[in-house]
Amino acid sequence: MPSSGTRSQKGRLMISWSGLKRYEECQQRHKLTISGKSEVTDGRIFLPGTIADRIMRAWLESTDPQPGEMVKMVPKVFEKYAYDDPQYSIRWRSPDDPALVQNMIRRALKVLEPLLLEHVIPFGYAPELSFRVTIMIPWLDGRLVPIDLVGGIDIVVLRGTSYGIWDLKMTQSEDYWRKVLGQLIFYSIALSHLVGDAEQPRTAGLITPLLKSPKQVIDISQEQRDVMMQRIIRMATSMWQKRWEVREDNSICSRCDVKRSCPKFATPIHTNGAAKIASLSGAAATRRATAVGTT
Ligand code: SF4
Repeated sequence: MPSSGTRSQKGRLMISWSGLKRYEECQQRHKLTISGKSEVTDGRIFLPGTIADRIMRAWLESTDPQPGEMVKMVPKVFEKYAYDDPQYSIRWRSPDDPALVQNMIRRALKVLEPLLLEHVIPFGYAPELSFRVTIMIPWLDGRLVPIDLVGGIDIVVLRGTSYGIWDLKMTQSEDYWRKVLGQLIFYSIALSHLVGDAEQPRTAGLITPLLKSPKQVIDISQEQRDVMMQRIIRMATSMWQKRWEVREDNSICSRCDVKRSCPKFATPIHTNGAAKIASLSGAAATRRATAVGTT
């Protein structure tokens, strides 16, 4: 999939949900990320979600998905993503952590599978539907120009003439849905363009197998879609204006994956003739001035 919030081969702007969120948090972080400066190497935080997601997809893509098959896939898929994934290394939290993660995934899959058998398998469906849809928005001079929305929807279901979307979340936080509501709204805009029907999808929901309520159907209003469109237009406009400001406060900087490339934390360099000498006192002053946790 193309990088989010960047440019396609023809120079067309592409925006994904994760890119939109990142840009709204810090324009500079988005710029550094799409320039390949991200230094995320610890895949532990994503591991349960990645494994559950891959197993769900493989099961849905199989010719005749049967109960009990998902849990059996855990050891092989776990091995692949915990130990053989060149993209990430895993920093285990304790010696028991690998077993705890596998148990958590098994617990989730035992809840997930019956939900899929009831709400997905009997209908037409597409797992991991990658999309790239073109929408028209006003450029800086008001002319309508195309941009692309890109992403992947975990499951799209077709019941009769009604489309529905599902997203799997391995969260253990009961109010997590509030944080991902925007993602469902973004996906619903993309799907309605993809199928050419402004009324679709009729339903959008989260599958949260680790929560007390493992399925949450969420109503998405036209007003919420309009607000999302405004956010997309605001990001596109700002990127066309080449606005790459650093975030003013430091509230998210300590967990920023491009911090080492960020100009806000750059070591001051003094030029002295041909020699460039890093100013240690200047660096210390910068660190003091931008101490993480201050706002
Ligand atoms: S360190 Fe802070 S200001 Fe710099 S890119 Fe990251 S979030 Fe933005």
